[in-house]
Amino acid sequence: MENLVESLKEQLKEKGYKLTTQRRIILDVILENQGKHLSPEEIYEKVRGKFPEIGLATVYRTLQLFEELNIIYKLNFNDGCSRYELNTNNGDHQHHHLICLNCGKVIEVQLDLLEALEEEIEKSREFKIVDHNLKFFGYCKDCKK
Ligand SMILES: [Zn+2]
Ligand SMILES: [Zn+2]
Ligand SMILES: [Zn+2]
Repeated sequence: MENLVESLKEQLKEKGYKLTTQRRIILDVILENQGKHLSPEEIYEKVRGKFPEIGLATVYRTLQLFEELNIIYKLNFNDGCSRYELNTNNGDHQHHHLICLNCGKVIEVQLDLLEALEEEIEKSREFKIVDHNLKFFGYCKDCKK
């Protein structure tokens, strides 16, 4: 965890940015909520609990900056808002998301399982695959009944 903060600090410095208190708190909230796919508004609510003076615009701007630096990436689960997730893949492909159409729960699948398909595409289309963004829609264990 501290390593990640250190590497973020370095990345920010390289681009001429500082890890200000506000940025640090926003990062902390994202770190504390890994796997939760928070929307900017949800992040704002949590950040405000630690830093009441912060404005929503600052949170939006910071998220945009983190996205540009590839620290987080934006997800869209077709529920009308964008969500953010920490970019923990060091060159690995993104994990998949299962989205429940009934309760809206998002479940992560950490296994890639697409190697055969990727190989086939790379061969037949002469296309180099570097990542993918896969969503499965359906019903979770609780809603399936
Ligand atoms: Zn995820
Ligand atoms: Zn893959
Ligand atoms: Zn469900």
